[in-house]
Amino acid sequence: MENTSDNWKFKGNKELNSASAITVRGALNALMSNLNASDERAAIPLGHGDPSAFPCFRTTTVADDAICDSVRSAKFNSYSPTVGILPARRAVADYLSQDLPYKLSPDDVYLTLGCTQAIEVILTVLSSPGANILLPRPGFPYYEARAAFCNLEVRHFDLLPEKGWEVDFDSVEALADKNTVAMVIINPGNPCGSVYSYEHLEKVAKMAKKLGIIVIADEVYDHLAFGSKPFVPMGVFGSSVPVVTLGSISKRWIVPGWRLGWLVTNDPNGILRKSGIVDCIIAFLNVSADPVTFIQGALPQILEKTKEDFFSKIKTILRQAADICYEKIKEIPCIECPQKPEGSMFVMVKLDTSLLDGIDNDMDFCLSLASEESVIVLPGICVGLRNWLRITFAIEPASLEDGLRRIKSFYERHSKKK
Ligand SMILES: *Cc1c(COP(=O)(O)O)cnc(C)c1O
Repeated sequence: MENTSDNWKFKGNKELNSASAITVRGALNALMSNLNASDERAAIPLGHGDPSAFPCFRTTTVADDAICDSVRSAKFNSYSPTVGILPARRAVADYLSQDLPYKLSPDDVYLTLGCTQAIEVILTVLSSPGANILLPRPGFPYYEARAAFCNLEVRHFDLLPEKGWEVDFDSVEALADKNTVAMVIINPGNPCGSVYSYEHLEKVAKMAKKLGIIVIADEVYDHLAFGSKPFVPMGVFGSSVPVVTLGSISKRWIVPGWRLGWLVTNDPNGILRKSGIVDCIIAFLNVSADPVTFIQGALPQILEKTKEDFFSKIKTILRQAADICYEKIKEIPCIECPQKPEGSMFVMVKLDTSLLDGIDNDMDFCLSLASEESVIVLPGICVGLRNWLRITFAIEPASLEDGLRRIKSFYERHSKKK
């Protein structure tokens, strides 16, 4: 008997569709398809944080050379151990230990396919039945998508725009219960461009300790702090509360396509080991794909040999771009920036739709902006805040100014006439 198309036995997992609908990539794809093909001007991407395509954000030749040396050595053509190769784990331990009051061991380090897989690992490990996790709002929607996919319940605490996007500890305490396992902080912040002080991180540690939960510190923007506050890693407080630090070379070295990240247990008292979390991390990595071995092979050179002048050049460009962004936004009445960005590559601005004709919300605004001005900006709803916008300033300064000029003329065209 020939099979007819209606009685095939397979079907896709619907959870996947609903989980991917809430990612940044999902929203940006929708905006890109709203671009007007007959606009001769180039589209200006203020939506996603990948400056690697711009010449001024080219990575250091130290990193390029490290990759070439690694490939040419023929030492890294094999499968990697599932936790990563030892020299690369040691290099990450040494790199991070520079900023800590204790020394990490290579055994505290697990190499992953970018910071993305590090998030996948820790959320999956923590998703035992009934458990819940506290996530920041606004935040990075991959956490929500991944949590949905592993049936981990999510509860959102607020970040306070009027307080430099610091954590609202009252909302943290109100949300936590006996099934809460961890809270996530992203520092320097995506989407807010905030950098947390030592004192604020100390309060995070105290709160987590009181609640008996892990702090997951997403430090993928480590050291990309160009304002008044220095970057302080959460691991500094590892002796008072277990901290799982997530990071990668994607942002600081501007090579997101190389897919090299890490998950690190900052846990000098061995609490994560005793509670079985470490065994679960290893078990998860045993059944998942590993970062490419020759990229791992290049990691020691990348981390040890990159010169300070590369980092300071990138920070200078980001600082100037953040300044341009902050000043130009002041000239656009329908958007307001509560906090000048001091780190990462993003800023959150509040949208006042009451000043605009025919624009009901942030998604409307972004769709019309894409089709009329060929400018892509991320609607705040994608990061948890309706009627806000996330703007990235990590692009060539000239394009950034052009993009903000176009947003201004968009406002002028749509502003409510009195
Ligand atoms: C970019 C980003 C990631 C993912 O980093 P990759 O190394 O590219 O996987 C994770 N968290 C945040 C907050 C990010 O902005």
